[in-house]
Amino acid sequence: MMVSTQIKNYPAIKKKTSIYKLGIEVIKKFIKDYQVECEWNECGKYFASTKLEDEYKLINFSKILTKLGYENNLLFQNELSKKIGTSFYKIALYTKGGILLHPAKLVRAMISALPNNVKLYENTCLIRWIKIKDFYICKFNNGSIKTKNIIFATNGFLKSLGIKKHYNFPLTLTASMTRKLTDKEFKLIGSPKEWGVLPVRPMGATIRMTKSKRILIRNTVEFYNYKGMSNSELKTRVLKHKLGIEKRFPQLPKDLIESSWSGVVSRSRNSSQIFEKIDKNVFVAGCYNGSGIGVGTLFGEQIAIKASNQNSEQIGLIETLDKPTRLPSDYLLNLGIKIRLIYESLRARADI
Ligand SMILES: Cc1cc2nc3c(=O)[nH]c(=O)nc-3n(C[C@H](O)[C@H](O)[C@H](O)COP(=O)(O)OP(=O)(O)OC[C@H]3O[C@@H](n4cnc5c(N)ncnc54)[C@H](O)[C@@H]3O)c2cc1C
Repeated sequence: MMVSTQIKNYPAIKKKTSIYKLGIEVIKKFIKDYQVECEWNECGKYFASTKLEDEYKLINFSKILTKLGYENNLLFQNELSKKIGTSFYKIALYTKGGILLHPAKLVRAMISALPNNVKLYENTCLIRWIKIKDFYICKFNNGSIKTKNIIFATNGFLKSLGIKKHYNFPLTLTASMTRKLTDKEFKLIGSPKEWGVLPVRPMGATIRMTKSKRILIRNTVEFYNYKGMSNSELKTRVLKHKLGIEKRFPQLPKDLIESSWSGVVSRSRNSSQIFEKIDKNVFVAGCYNGSGIGVGTLFGEQIAIKASNQNSEQIGLIETLDKPTRLPSDYLLNLGIKIRLIYESLRARADI
């Protein structure tokens, strides 16, 4: 296919894509080196919409992907429903290059690969840190550590720690996963292969069929108290997950959901990530704008190299990326985010 070279911001898109590619490679290398079984599946993904009017967006996106060298193809309702077992969506762009995996299996493998000189403390909350000469005294809920170096990699919690607080803000997502579908239920939806769907409209649902025949849905995004969600608050979000599954799979029984959770992601105004030294021997990596499994792993590896006073080709590339732009005052930010989320939710209401 001949593609016009006039794609807006193409150099920036290309640079971002190469970072995402490096993120995938770093995980791929890890799972190969450590023989990790984390349901890695290079099956690509679908960007889908219930609105045919989104076709022009997908065609534009397809042009960018083709120019970047990613195979992709546009699918309409009939063909799509055979792939994903629901005729809910009217149109989708299938793109090669996306990976599905089991994040908990990956993280557990990373923890068990930690070398002996690394100690992992869970449920150990950093409350404050003070600099005394060349040292930092870090106070935790259950003890303290005296150290010369700190790397902050707390992503959605960076702002709450006062780090780069004018450049990132947290958003809270909730998701649910069903029990395993029975063979009979799975047949009812056409026994599809594992798949992942992302929304064309920002506030639409992310949904996937897992290898173990479970349906996973994330269809809420909120500007919310990052400190955590109570069970009763989570339950009200689960009703939305339930409805999202029912709308897509009316042929399945209701009440399939087995587990639900909330999580915090970090966003910046211009969708850039944070990777920098903020003080003598203090480094920060984070703000992955909701998709940090690959990029976050890459940034984590590379910030450790930077903090060890070494350099790498990857650091060179990461440091040429745009930096997050400054956010308005908290009052305007809160107001702006709330208005934007309401607007985007209304635009995507059919896809939630
Ligand atoms: C529902 C949901 C769906 C997602 N789907 C995808 C997806 O499909 N693909 C994708 O790439 N990404 C996805 N993401 C985003 C992805 O989970 C994040 O980008 C990734 O987890 C970032 O990793 P991280 O280690 O930088 O931060 P996190 O995984 O957020 O870890 C931050 C850690 O910092 C700890 N912490 C916070 N404050 C303190 C403190 N004061 N003291 C000590 N520790 C602290 C937290 O307890 C946490 O363990 C999703 C996120 C959510 C919530």
